[in-house]
Amino acid sequence: MPAFSYFIVMQFRQYIALVALFLSQLVYAQVKLPVPLNIAAAYNQQTRSPDGSPGKNYWQNTADYTIKVDFDPSTRLLKGTMAIRYINNSPDTLHEVWFKLYPNLYKKDSPRETKVSASDFTDGVAIQQFVMNNKALDVSRLNIDGTNMIVPAEILSRQTTHFQIAWSYTLNKGSHVRTGQVDTGAFFIAYFFPRIAVYDDIDGWNENPYLGSAEFYNDFCSFNVEISVPKDYAVWATGDLDNAADVLQPGIYKRVQQAGQSDSVVNVITEADLQQSAVTTGASPWKFTASNVTDFAFAISNHYVWKAGSLVVDKQSGRRTRVDVVFNPRHNDYNEVVNYARKTVEVMSYTFPKWPFPYPHETIFDGLDQMEYPMMVNDNPLADKEATITLTDHEIFHTMFPFYMGVNETKYGWMDEGWATIGEWLISPCIDPAIVDDYGVKPYEKNAGSERDLPIMTLTTQQKDPAFYLNSYPKPAFGYLYVKDMLGDELFTKALHYYIRQWNGKHPMPYDFFNCMNTGAGQNMNWFWKRWFFDNGFPDLAIRNVKKAGSQYTVIIESVGGKPVPIDVTVYFSDQTVQKIHRSIACWKAGNKQVTIEFSSDKKVDKVVLGSTYVPDVNKRDNVYKVRL
Ligand SMILES: [Zn+2]
Repeated sequence: MPAFSYFIVMQFRQYIALVALFLSQLVYAQVKLPVPLNIAAAYNQQTRSPDGSPGKNYWQNTADYTIKVDFDPSTRLLKGTMAIRYINNSPDTLHEVWFKLYPNLYKKDSPRETKVSASDFTDGVAIQQFVMNNKALDVSRLNIDGTNMIVPAEILSRQTTHFQIAWSYTLNKGSHVRTGQVDTGAFFIAYFFPRIAVYDDIDGWNENPYLGSAEFYNDFCSFNVEISVPKDYAVWATGDLDNAADVLQPGIYKRVQQAGQSDSVVNVITEADLQQSAVTTGASPWKFTASNVTDFAFAISNHYVWKAGSLVVDKQSGRRTRVDVVFNPRHNDYNEVVNYARKTVEVMSYTFPKWPFPYPHETIFDGLDQMEYPMMVNDNPLADKEATITLTDHEIFHTMFPFYMGVNETKYGWMDEGWATIGEWLISPCIDPAIVDDYGVKPYEKNAGSERDLPIMTLTTQQKDPAFYLNSYPKPAFGYLYVKDMLGDELFTKALHYYIRQWNGKHPMPYDFFNCMNTGAGQNMNWFWKRWFFDNGFPDLAIRNVKKAGSQYTVIIESVGGKPVPIDVTVYFSDQTVQKIHRSIACWKAGNKQVTIEFSSDKKVDKVVLGSTYVPDVNKRDNVYKVRL
């Protein structure tokens, strides 16, 4: 074709494409996400904005917790006193204050969704003193209902209220649900103090009881915590250890300082140190402070070794994060965890989500769970290297969601677990290129489209497995991955950073996320959000036909299940070579049921195969097309 007529044809094609684009945008600009009334009210009150940013009337409450706890490993009795300064930033008068007594998960008569052995039942949290604004309440008349405690109050908007509380409970020995005894000399202690529930612009008080399955929702608060433990016990916690020079022996203290400046790994506590009782000075308490975090957890041990190393997480400021891995020296699998953890922090800071790791340190503690806390992780040892890597990066990735971004995990598990899932999919191969992390893919393929498969937007509190698992982990992770694939890394990162900047340190809801991504990417992706997060349907593509005209091949792909998934086609030629063809979810934007893929080749095609690791498909029998042309 001569260049001139080619130019005319191209112009005409571009014109047609522009008209088509305009028409499709006309149609798809109309896609509106269904907004429930309690969310719509937030837009009317301008606490949230349609563009995804916090509204001009956005508010959230906060508190300063000054806590003193004493823990006796031999009896597992935890005794605490604390002062809370609570600030009601809402426009409302609060007629009651809801507290969370998380250790009541183990109280004999508490409702719960996780199993607790009868031998691990406790009497729950005993409150010895409860003072509100210098007025003591009769503790025998406190209204305690499972893990909730409701206290009558009269707190005006913008008013500050002071509480003083003394409490105690016995830490669980078995039935380890995110906290408890690890062995006779190691304990992971979380959710250990009565704390004020979130009061927000969507629901008012978070009345959802903690039942052991759905996770947490906490306000950003400051913590000043003093922890007393017997000599020879070292303490690791959320926040900075302010009196490290007093509680650690000089040699150990020096190594911690060194690790904070060193790119290589330092053995801070060795087995020899433990044998010589040369770790702690015996001074007590251990003093920690943390500000603007959603929770405070700590772990103690008298026989764990400690490996640490740090890295620059922000090249502009030179700020470093220290990674601490603390474990039973008999668990050899843990020796490499410090390297996996350092690499995770590096990839998070520079590749995905490409955001400087927001905290000064991160402790991975050898425990009995697979659970995240601000600046802390409680991970069981695993014999398998791949499982160790994927677990380590998954839990550390939670630093961003839900801790830096204060999402309501109780209602929207997908706003944190979905991110940790795509986090481990993307980061694990950076640690070990041999890994193909397909966490959650097969369970989704097994259940997708069945009556057990509910829309992701179903509240987490209203789900049980397998819907609970699928909607928290793989399904949202696919959603994020597909948008990343459609936008490309640069634009996706720009959109995600827009969301992170708007909402870090705050409480984003699903609509804030969708709207921020639309605004940040500069394109309305409601067509996809609606079909992936709200609608029914299942991932199932089929090859309906492969046609040949001269050297031109045409492959007809049909979406049987209606869920928009990327298309990965592998063409196998008779000379043993292959060609891969990829289409992002954008190819389904118009609501079309079929997509036509064309390629030209002079070689003979044997077969065409659909599918790849991250494209689940409930029926794979129609994914292979043997070509007999
Ligand atoms: Zn997780």
